[in-house]
Amino acid sequence: MSHFQRILVIGAHPDDAEFHAGGLMLSQARRGSRIGILSLTDGSAGHLSMDRPTLAARRRTEALAAAQILGADVDVWNEPDGQLTDSPALREELVVAIRQFEPDLIVTHRPYDYHPDHRACAKLVQDACYLLRVPNIQPDIPALGVDPVVLQMCDFFTRPAPFRADVVLPIDNDFEAILDLLACHESQVFEWLPHITGIPVSGESMSWLAKFYGSRPKRIAREYGTGCRYAEAFEISEYGQQMNATDCAARLGLT
Ligand SMILES: [Zn+2]
Repeated sequence: MSHFQRILVIGAHPDDAEFHAGGLMLSQARRGSRIGILSLTDGSAGHLSMDRPTLAARRRTEALAAAQILGADVDVWNEPDGQLTDSPALREELVVAIRQFEPDLIVTHRPYDYHPDHRACAKLVQDACYLLRVPNIQPDIPALGVDPVVLQMCDFFTRPAPFRADVVLPIDNDFEAILDLLACHESQVFEWLPHITGIPVSGESMSWLAKFYGSRPKRIAREYGTGCRYAEAFEISEYGQQMNATDCAARLGLT
């Protein structure tokens, strides 16, 4: 089965794509998929000492550096970090952006998550996806002929509905490369996240990052994987094109 041609990963923050779908992006880029990364906010909240404009500029540079490694297109919108809300205007901007990229696969957050921006992003994407084929919404940009498949990135929240691992992607072979992508987001992985989680960087920074980041894909592998040490997992959204899990896995080269 042929790979997805154009994959758009839409996150709330400039590092969400790499954190939750770095392995998917790396593996699919290798198979020839065009990768796009869109951050709906400017990432300007996540720091202990930098002000918003300075941090926003830094995070844009970091996002570009990671995208360059991937050979991906990247766009960081100017919505203030921490204040993302679902609005008709933003939803239509998203309809335009998705139509312009013409993805056959969209990857985004689930609507149940710890971060209000993640939940707002998920809602915006879900509602935009419903409108991609409606010509009277943003009539200047041609409506899509086919709905993209929408995959939601893994989280461990259980209310109102727990995550369902429809597709599990082993990432053992890409683990080091994902660390390289994450290391581009240095304001987050080496400054803000150690501060906010109370897990300070110790020893050699990349070894520390392997442990810090690795705990999550390790848990995914333990809960949903078979025979791998690290994994990413995705749930097929009820919005977008409906595809069964076996076919989706095949299109990602997993079977
Ligand atoms: Zn985020």
